[in-house]
Amino acid sequence: MPVAAPKPSSWIRVEPAGIFVEPGGFHVDPGRAVGWAVVTHGHGDHARPGHDAVLATPETLAIMRARYRGDAGRRQQPLAYGETVRIGEVDVRLMPAGHVLGSAQVVMDYRGSRVVVSGDYKRRPDPTCRPFEPVPCDVFVTEATFGLPVFRHPPAAGEVAKVLESLTLFPERAHVIGAYALGKAQRMIAELRAAGYAEPIFLHGGLVNLCDLYQRHGVDLGPLVPATGAAKADLQGAVVLAPPSAIADRWSRRLPDPVVAMASGWMRVRQRARQRGVELPLIISDHADWDELLATMADVDAPEVWVTHGREEALVIAAASQGRRARALNLVGREEDDAE
Ligand SMILES: [Zn+2]
Ligand SMILES: [Zn+2]
Repeated sequence: MPVAAPKPSSWIRVEPAGIFVEPGGFHVDPGRAVGWAVVTHGHGDHARPGHDAVLATPETLAIMRARYRGDAGRRQQPLAYGETVRIGEVDVRLMPAGHVLGSAQVVMDYRGSRVVVSGDYKRRPDPTCRPFEPVPCDVFVTEATFGLPVFRHPPAAGEVAKVLESLTLFPERAHVIGAYALGKAQRMIAELRAAGYAEPIFLHGGLVNLCDLYQRHGVDLGPLVPATGAAKADLQGAVVLAPPSAIADRWSRRLPDPVVAMASGWMRVRQRARQRGVELPLIISDHADWDELLATMADVDAPEVWVTHGREEALVIAAASQGRRARALNLVGREEDDAE
């Protein structure tokens, strides 16, 4: 008789610092500095500075070094997608999550019991990162940023077409697009290139480092030019990318009669677009929408689902209606991914 696999809740639990994997002695995406951290991706609510040791994909470690410099983790252990390493008594594997460059799901096997922590993920094609790969498991830990039926993202190509159309309508005006510095900005550029836009794209200084990093990792973003110091004539009818915080401030008012756009899943909510002074809302998200969340639970076919940051309640109910046990993890320190 085979020995029954241990219940996942007996070896993986939520602590104030985040998800703790007892037989491995490590945390996944801890909200504060710990001894041993496995990190899914480089966004600030998942990758914190100051850990003694960090395990992540080589791309995520590079992003953490770019953001935190000497504070990116005393010891850094890269793990390529699909490779397995044993930490304590737990086999750990990183699989693509399709969220941003280097983003990974953490697959953990312990004595015949498997838990997958998705981190943030999406199922839509993204020219800047490897697509999500479903891994069957006993417990699937899923995000729920857009965990309400009202959130259904349109295809990105249609949103990009709105930018190109506006450029034709307003050839004298700069088109400034607010996009989160890690992931969204590079994806926005790559989607414009995929739609055939070959002109130089101007960058706010806050985006330059991460765009360089993406290009060093083989993501082709085409010709990029710093917006600072560019002649006004060159900015007329040009695409300018900036962090969301810059689109409504003095910085963008220096641009020639700017059309203010913003690329975010939250642009589905008209009121948010208005609050930010956005004239051209672009619904482009790096998070799964409602349909993708439901499809993914079915694809990994986990009998049990734990839901993290976002709108947990609706997804818990939807999981139960698929016949899965589900609960909200209520992690602290996971602020809403507002800009992503
Ligand atoms: Zn993220
Ligand atoms: Zn997140």
